[in-house]
Formats: sequence, C-alpha cells, structure tokens
Amino acid sequence: MLKTKDILDEKDPRVRAKNTMVDFPLCDEYRNIIPEMLKHLRYSQIEKYSKKYNLRPGMGLAAPQVGINKRFFVVCYERKEGVFDDYILINPKVISYSEEMIYAGEGEGCLSVNREVDGIVPRHARITVEGYDMDGNLIKYRVREDLAIAFQHELDHLDGILFTDHIDPNDPYKDADIMREV
Ligand code: ZN
Repeated sequence: MLKTKDILDEKDPRVRAKNTMVDFPLCDEYRNIIPEMLKHLRYSQIEKYSKKYNLRPGMGLAAPQVGINKRFFVVCYERKEGVFDDYILINPKVISYSEEMIYAGEGEGCLSVNREVDGIVPRHARITVEGYDMDGNLIKYRVREDLAIAFQHELDHLDGILFTDHIDPNDPYKDADIMREV
C-alpha cells in the first residue's frame, strides 16, 4: 500500500508540473499503482486503519501527487456507512457542467497540502466526465454534490492546480452567499 510519505507535498515541483495523456495498453507501473492509491484512500477513511498506518483521511488522489505526471486520478467515495465506491478516470474530459455552484462548507482538504487553509472553493454542483478505465474502455460518470467536488478537485490536479489556488486570502469566503453549501 502507498504510505503517507509516498504522497508528494505541494512544495514538490511534480505537483505543479504538466501532465501528459496516458497511452494504452496501460503500463504495469500504472496498473499496479492505481489499486494502491485506492487502497490508501479507503484505509484512510476507516478509523482502525487510518490510526494503524497513520493516514490522513482523503477521498481522492491524482497521479502527479504520487510523482507520475500523467492524466489520471482515483476517488474512493463512502456512499454510505462502510460502503465505498472506487472511481478510476484515465485521460478524463469534462463533458458538461451544471450552472449551479456549490462549495464544501467545511472547506476542502488535500493530501498534498499539509497546512490549515481557511476558505471555500466554488465548484459546479453536477458534472459529467468522460474518460477511460484501466483496460482502455470509454466510461462516463455523471456526479453530483460532494462527489462532484472531489472530481473537480482531482481534475484540477491534472492541470497542476490546487484547491488553495481558488481561495482569495483577502476574502476567503467570497461568494458564499451566492452558492449552495454542501
Ligand atoms: Zn488534492
């Protein structure tokens, strides 16, 4: 399993570097690391394991955060207590956005940002994303609410963008009144 130390801090230039498209068939390196990334996320959300392995809870990881400057990410989403859905998106592309905007009321977190950041990030309430699975099959997800926030957060990583970039330090709760809190 990926350890906490395997996840790059925001200061590492690879987190900000350009990420290129993945070629198929998928190489063994990515085929092996994707399940490792998902396992890390799942364990990080289960108290017993997060304590045991000293993991900070997270629901998404993008390739550049593990030092791979390629366009893929994973999300492990706890749909209901103890039930996790794994998402793998390779070469993702956003097909459509809702006009409605939302933000995570508790703020966003990132496994590469190891500091407290106050503020909220405007996100679309619903997005439709197309991409490929590990076998190169075209897949499409329509996601909403906190899952949509997670997807947009991870999509940003593929362009070297961190959630902190969206927060104005002089007005960290800007536009909260015109968006819906989730
Ligand atoms: Zn992140």
